[in-house]
Amino acid sequence: MRKIGIMGGTFDPVHLGHLIIAEAALDAAGLDEVRFIPCGRPYFKDERCDKVSDAEDRLEMCRLAVNDNPRFTVSDIEVKRRGKTYTYETMEELKAEEPDSEFSFICGADSVVSMSSWYLPERIFRTCSILAAVRDDETDRKCFDTEIKKLHHEYGADISLLPVPNIGISSTDIRERIKSGKSVRYLTTNNVIEYIERKGLYR
Ligand code: ATP
Ligand code: MG
Repeated sequence: MRKIGIMGGTFDPVHLGHLIIAEAALDAAGLDEVRFIPCGRPYFKDERCDKVSDAEDRLEMCRLAVNDNPRFTVSDIEVKRRGKTYTYETMEELKAEEPDSEFSFICGADSVVSMSSWYLPERIFRTCSILAAVRDDETDRKCFDTEIKKLHHEYGADISLLPVPNIGISSTDIRERIKSGKSVRYLTTNNVIEYIERKGLYR
């Protein structure tokens, strides 16, 4: 059985934080592949929806960022769908296409906390387990244990913790840095930085 990790996100732009947790998941859970799936229209980010970069740019940046890792792949399944993006639909579609694969959804701590408010969470948890990247420190862990127990109890969610170092990188910070002319070197890959510069993104 092929074990596939799914990294969902806006990836506006993809950065080293994403790559680091993907690699940690690959390693800790013995995955065969981590698939990056940039969302089409992020329904929960409606307030800045018009400002989210073109799906094609976000997709291309993901492709550039993963191209030196044979176990990292990128899928356009959500970008192609246009319309709104729901994780449960994506997971059900993947499971139907690849019934013999075992899927886990990799996400950061902030996403786990908001998961119960996602659309049809019980259908997400039915198709995949969750690998939650949490900071490797005590207070964080305690707070998560409660949330995880709740999700397990309410929706039968299978969530395991993926200890990761605290990586202070976010797409928001990268966009703001570029806007104010600051350097983003070492926050994402060089080929992504070159793409951003070439296309004049985030100015
Ligand atoms: P934004 O600042 O626009 O919200 P982001 O940096 O959070 O962007 P997303 O595309 O929203 O990136 O995140 C995709 C996934 O990666 C989410 O599950 C998020 O929790 C996780 N993630 C993003 N940055 C980090 C980080 N530095 N450490 C751990 N997880 C992260
Ligand atoms: Mg985010």
